[in-house]
Amino acid sequence: MPAIHAKHAMLQQGWADNVRIGFQGGRITLVEPNAAPHVDDARVDALLPALSNLHSHSFQRAMAGMTERQADGHDNFWSWRELMYRFLDHLTPDDIEAIAALAFMEMLEAGYAAVGEFHYVHHAPGGVPYDALSETSQRIFAAAVEIGIGLTHLPVLYTYGATGERPLIGGQQRFGNDFNRFCSLVESAQASMRALPGDYAIGIAPHSLRATTPSQFKLTADAFPQGPIHIHAAEQVKEVEDTVAWLGARPVEWLLDNANIDQRWCLIHATHMSETEATRLARSGAVVGLCPLTESNLGDGIFNGETYLAAGGAIGVGSDSCIRISVSGELSTLEYTQRLKHRARNVTAQSQGSTGEQLYRRALAGGAQSLARKTGAIEIGNWADLVSLDLSRPSLTALRPDQLVDGWVFAANDNVVSDVWSAGRHVVRDGQHRQRDVIIDRFRQTMRALKNRI
Ligand SMILES: [Zn+2]
Repeated sequence: MPAIHAKHAMLQQGWADNVRIGFQGGRITLVEPNAAPHVDDARVDALLPALSNLHSHSFQRAMAGMTERQADGHDNFWSWRELMYRFLDHLTPDDIEAIAALAFMEMLEAGYAAVGEFHYVHHAPGGVPYDALSETSQRIFAAAVEIGIGLTHLPVLYTYGATGERPLIGGQQRFGNDFNRFCSLVESAQASMRALPGDYAIGIAPHSLRATTPSQFKLTADAFPQGPIHIHAAEQVKEVEDTVAWLGARPVEWLLDNANIDQRWCLIHATHMSETEATRLARSGAVVGLCPLTESNLGDGIFNGETYLAAGGAIGVGSDSCIRISVSGELSTLEYTQRLKHRARNVTAQSQGSTGEQLYRRALAGGAQSLARKTGAIEIGNWADLVSLDLSRPSLTALRPDQLVDGWVFAANDNVVSDVWSAGRHVVRDGQHRQRDVIIDRFRQTMRALKNRI
């Protein structure tokens, strides 16, 4: 039985010393505090349950750094999206796989053990389906298996170009499926998934209200009675205004009134919510998928965190555009945007004690729930999704165990991560992924060829 001996480990009831954690078949089978190490144990300083990254569009990692200059003096989410669509016109399935492999590797090195890939680039440029309808989903599977990251795949239903059932335009054609073809695509992806590791799962993702219709929500509920459902909601003020003009309700309000929002649901962003929406959503049992680095990068706005968290709302974090893949970056930005908004400190904490650890624990639970992944705590039966921190780093060396997450989130960066296990796969050692050089080399070649085509 592979086992880890940790000088300190973050368990559900708090930090414990000298903990042996054993696992078999990828699942935790032993948690023993105050234990001596065995000779073959992996030895680490501080061990935590690893987070799930609940929202990623991995292909966007290749655009990181390319859109940070002013074009016409009014750059916003919508002008960024234009650039993203143009970039998409040139991506091949090989490119999608190579870029996903790099992004997944960076997620593991940052300390994530699993990812929810919100996947909408289904077809060839112009919208012609590939011979296999789920071709690009299979490329995501191949990248995830090669890298060893846990995966909940979320094929996206994207039928319309904007609110009011407007047609797809330009780059959007690669995303497009009517409901029936979407069901065939999911079936095809599910069939390929049977050969994949046991911790892999599939859900569905109606892209947003603007890309779908009310009638599709009813069809979706009938066709997919189980598994996670993710949707982008209320990221942009214009999106809220367009939805009010079209459906007579704000996006979160409309979903709460019409879509049986419950624990299966993950609303990505939910940035612009009234007090009533925030309270109702918190009570629904759904998870809000926050992507603070991307939301900051795109200028989306600041989430109504104070109301939502005080009402007991569940949250997780996602790297979304993958502009920077960072656990500490997502959590510190989440807290700092709330501090700037309220001109106060430790705003997201709901009780005394470490703010970083409270946020981390909420994101563990929300990430696990939203990806339908049995993880989020060092407990027997859970997948062995684990991350260790190197306490010899100057930013952590003086801290008590109950201050370590604050050290990671607010004082350090992710280079304090030493090892990562995803469902027992020991994928990161001494801060580096096991295939780092090969993956980076292939990414470089991909980007060189892509730049010549754009
Ligand atoms: Zn997104």
